[in-house]
Amino acid sequence: GVVAGLALGLTACDAPTEPNTGGAGEAQDITNVGISMPTRELERWINDGAQLQKLLQDAGYTAELQYAENDPDTQISQIQNLIAGGSQVLVVAAIDGSVLAPVLQDAKDKGITVIAYDRLINDTPNVDYYATFDNQKVGTLQGEYIVDQLDLENQAGPFYLEPFAGSPDDNNAKFFFSGAWDVLKPYVDEGKLVVASGKAPKSNDDWASIGIQDWESSGAQSEMENRLATFYTDKKVDVVLSPNDSLAQGIAEALASSGYTPGPDYPLLTGQDADKASVINILAGKQSMTVWKDTRLLGQQVFNMIEALKSGAQVEVNDTESYDNGVKVVPSYLLPPEVVVKDTVQEKLIDSGFLKASDVGL
Ligand code: BGC
Repeated sequence: GVVAGLALGLTACDAPTEPNTGGAGEAQDITNVGISMPTRELERWINDGAQLQKLLQDAGYTAELQYAENDPDTQISQIQNLIAGGSQVLVVAAIDGSVLAPVLQDAKDKGITVIAYDRLINDTPNVDYYATFDNQKVGTLQGEYIVDQLDLENQAGPFYLEPFAGSPDDNNAKFFFSGAWDVLKPYVDEGKLVVASGKAPKSNDDWASIGIQDWESSGAQSEMENRLATFYTDKKVDVVLSPNDSLAQGIAEALASSGYTPGPDYPLLTGQDADKASVINILAGKQSMTVWKDTRLLGQQVFNMIEALKSGAQVEVNDTESYDNGVKVVPSYLLPPEVVVKDTVQEKLIDSGFLKASDVGL
């Protein structure tokens, strides 16, 4: 249904010259794929890049992989180099989702197909497909975890909550936040959750005010230290909504330096990515959960998209509504995220081969 609908969007004159409109097209002699990743600072992107590059190389493609160290201008020039180097497909995990339109126009002019990887690219017609995890669901899972653990349906509280959000330039960050805030805000409004710092966005759209630039652990740590030193001199924080593991690691440091130790009084602390350092913290009781996204599946999905483009088959998508980039709704493939807690680390992360037991001291 969904894919057929896309195919209907093709007009006769689009089909042969524009590989970029979705649906089945002509087979294309694709041999060269460029991959642009945001940073080596976070473990997941190292794995994401290496894994996709290997899938492509094993299948005989040339696959050049670039990391832009979280600098949007560096990413733009790396994409220019990939275009100049003959990439026929570009796979881009954007640092700043709103500055790539000009360089993607160059890509389009050369007939290159662009796949947004994990993060949507905004304000351009020249992004053909998007492969990601269900980003809203990531936030929903974090919010629901908090509601369950505090038993907010039955408990009056109040519980002290401190919310955090991701990098304001990352299109995913608003989805993570609104997924969580849709679940938590009713309890804030009711007074069961109290944000002592006052840093509770009035609506989902205000999330950027509590966003941590570049998802830096150090930024989250100093923000949490400030909140604790200013607003928690006479009370303890019960729960911290952290959108991902890099922030959670900084927040855990701040908690430790304020004297919070693992145990029944330690705050709930959420995360995302199943980053090794965070899994170690989960096992040690310094982080409560992580939302795991099996990035191997994401790499495989993108690889499948490229193979489909190559053979002229329909590119598989499963969402044609959620991701409007300001110019168009980008046909997307969403993968399911899942919660991992201490008791499920072995089964979900180790037994599946995502992490090695020795990576996390097991
Ligand atoms: C990704 C997360 C990651 C974050 C920081 C987001 O766009 O979806 O998995 O934790 O960026 O790199």
